[in-house]
Amino acid sequence: MNDALTISDRLHQLKAALPPHVELVAVSKTKPVAILQKAIDAGQLDLGENRVQEMNAKAEHFAEQPVRWHHIGHLQTNKVKQAIRCSHMIHAVDSDRLLAEIEKRSKSSGIQSRVLLQMHIAKETQKHGMTEEELDRTLNTLVSNPMSSTAICGLMGMATFTDDSAQVTQEFKALRKFFDRYNPGHWNTCSMGMSGDWHIAVDEGSTLVRIGSAIFGSR
Ligand SMILES: *Cc1c(COP(=O)(O)O)cnc(C)c1O
Repeated sequence: MNDALTISDRLHQLKAALPPHVELVAVSKTKPVAILQKAIDAGQLDLGENRVQEMNAKAEHFAEQPVRWHHIGHLQTNKVKQAIRCSHMIHAVDSDRLLAEIEKRSKSSGIQSRVLLQMHIAKETQKHGMTEEELDRTLNTLVSNPMSSTAICGLMGMATFTDDSAQVTQEFKALRKFFDRYNPGHWNTCSMGMSGDWHIAVDEGSTLVRIGSAIFGSR
């Protein structure tokens, strides 16, 4: 990252480098509201957070601004009720149980939630996500038991944290392949790519990148 550049400069550079069909979520987790304000002032209205409490506090702070909040990390079922309040999209639904809880809470709160199912594509076991078999099962179950308050908009995945670009390429390729295979027609979001690997993700068919440190600096 070039430290001489402002947040606005970095956002503009990124926007210019991204193909028009690729959405940018600026990952603002851990950053104070004064920093988020700079991104908002530069026209960046999609912001990503991974802690529900922090996201909701920031949403409250920016209640007058048309920010779309993306919940991007692992979400615990006991945080769902709070998470659905202001999430534009929940990116990392990594189990049936979590999906069922989002549907249940959304229904009882009269909220329409939008989610992505997280697929496990990395070599690292600590990364969350469903296997292909689990995704298959989940999506099949939904055909006979459709949800009324939760819309699945696509898939999300995180590649292995490695310098081996061939490895990362292969993982993103796999995610995009599953996306195309399972897409019931209305899926429009294949969320893949972060600061270190978004070039590869875009080449492999990402439609949404989640970028934090390359915009806001290291955390
Ligand atoms: C933190 C985070 C990002 C952004 O990571 P950077 O490397 O800072 O761009 C993207 N996606 C998820 C799920 C994250 O937790």
